[in-house]
Amino acid sequence: MSTESAAAKPAETPETDGPRDFIRQIIREDLAKGKHTAIRTRFPPEPNGYLHIGHAKSICLNFGIGREFAGWCNLRLDDTNPGKEDPEFVEGIKDDVRWLGYEWHDLRHASDYFEVFYRAAIKLIQDGHAYVDDLTAEQMREYRGTLTEPGRHSPFRDRSVEENLDLFRRMREGEFADGSKTLRAKIDMASGNINLRDPAIYRIRKVTHQNTGDAWPIYPMYDYAHCLSDALEGITHSLCTLEFEDHRPLYDWFVDNVDLPNHPELWQHMRDAGFRTEPAKPRQIEFSRLNLSYMITSKRKLAQLVSEGHVDGWDDPRMNTLRGLRRRGFTPGGIRLLIERLGVSKQNSVIDYAIFENCVREDLDASAARRMAVIDPLKLVITNLPEGHEETLTFPNHPKDESFGTRQVPLSRELWIEREDFAEVPPKGFHRLKPEGEVRLRGVGIVKCEQIIKDAAGNVTELHCTLDPDSRSGMPGADRKVKGTIHWVSAKHGVPAEIRIYDRLFNVATPDDESDGKTWIEHINPDAKRTVRGWLEPSAAGVEPEQRFQFERLGYFVADRVDHRPEAPVFNRTVTLRDTWAR
Ligand code: ATP
Ligand code: MG
Repeated sequence: MSTESAAAKPAETPETDGPRDFIRQIIREDLAKGKHTAIRTRFPPEPNGYLHIGHAKSICLNFGIGREFAGWCNLRLDDTNPGKEDPEFVEGIKDDVRWLGYEWHDLRHASDYFEVFYRAAIKLIQDGHAYVDDLTAEQMREYRGTLTEPGRHSPFRDRSVEENLDLFRRMREGEFADGSKTLRAKIDMASGNINLRDPAIYRIRKVTHQNTGDAWPIYPMYDYAHCLSDALEGITHSLCTLEFEDHRPLYDWFVDNVDLPNHPELWQHMRDAGFRTEPAKPRQIEFSRLNLSYMITSKRKLAQLVSEGHVDGWDDPRMNTLRGLRRRGFTPGGIRLLIERLGVSKQNSVIDYAIFENCVREDLDASAARRMAVIDPLKLVITNLPEGHEETLTFPNHPKDESFGTRQVPLSRELWIEREDFAEVPPKGFHRLKPEGEVRLRGVGIVKCEQIIKDAAGNVTELHCTLDPDSRSGMPGADRKVKGTIHWVSAKHGVPAEIRIYDRLFNVATPDDESDGKTWIEHINPDAKRTVRGWLEPSAAGVEPEQRFQFERLGYFVADRVDHRPEAPVFNRTVTLRDTWAR
């Protein structure tokens, strides 16, 4: 991973100056050679699910390059596979790209180009580069050969141009049954690259399409539609993941043989209809996928988690979909920071999830105001304050950034503290509250534990403490040192809240690895979601959904995007303050 160049670069250096990664380096060389006047990229998701953290790498790369090189990036919905695709996903994808902080030049669908693809296929037939095949899918597989054996020619390979044109038009008219005919490119059945052994261009599928309805009974294959979409949009650099490396010769074959720039008859109708098109020859460049430990980046598996009810939907805060991460409280800035830090290379690797969490912490540390909340409450009574005592303390909202201002925090005689901040039999090195011990109550002063109240079962229900008045702020003893400081919420003023404590969805680093005989589903962490009743200081409660805070000493939390109400607060734990998984 090329982390050095990104890390060593001062923030104020314009991003176009240095190499940063091999793709930007290629682009800079292409610009220097005068190959392009503008850099154009695209992000091409298939709308068959919501975007996940892996897609964020592709989004940041494509949109980032468009922005850095004063070019642009299109959002293209790669919808050539009807049946699995859904307008709900289209809307979700648009929403997620914007949330990450990017705006597209044009929003396109591969299906916008169905007529172009169709005309281009006719051109390929006319040029002797494509034929209609009657072999079944299974026969085609047999004829294809293997890595060590060449394939065989289909008996239909030498049909005349006229016959092919006639059959293909009738395929388009819907005359033939699904799967009964295929349009194939005529390339080389003996090629060492199996992708070039007469790959399919069109197949018959009488399935309703989410964008074009029932207009088409035939659908183009991905390898054909993708490169032509790139060429049609004038994409200069088509960035994709490594598994497409072996497809690149085919990508170039289609681009060169269709030759859109020199054949306006194939696309002029689009321009006439108002589409911005300036066809060009794109260059495909592959990079390695983003893989994170403890996470799944397969849309099929994410869909399975939802459909089988292992999670509460695509936006469940345990999901590593962008919606899930958003609801969990992860920030676009934290996600972009991760992608920036990891860089771009051709090296496959699995990134430690803790690195991701650290990026999010770093972003939230700077951007989240501080508040106090107690999630496992134990009552603490300050016995030397009078009954009905009330006062208001002023707290800074951020310890390192005065621009966050201050807030008022009410104090009364009875407080909630965290149960784990008291130990009747303290372990070694325990610096919080213990019998006869002292601790600083954040922003108040030093209290001493004088008495422990228990219920009939022997559980601690209350601590009776005295506050050293001389240790209060502004008093001569205010600097007196005790080892521990704990947070608290006034019981009289605290607002009850539902707090959802989230953890990693899988309890092993590589859930996809089934070599231990367990399926990835069996690696789901049953404790990844826990709901508790906690108490918030008043100024943490009346906030809008998606407001993020650091609850002091507990972690970063976000007001739930869906369920939070100012009068009935619901907060999700985004991440703890430190890595609790490190062993
Ligand atoms: P599918 O399994 O359905 O093919 P996909 O993960 O390839 O899903 P697409 O919607 O086709 O999803 O992906 C859109 C773009 O995002 C593609 O250019 C793809 O290469 C890129 N992408 C997908 N997953 C990752 C990943 N983990 N890291 C980097 N880029 C990714
Ligand atoms: Mg894909």
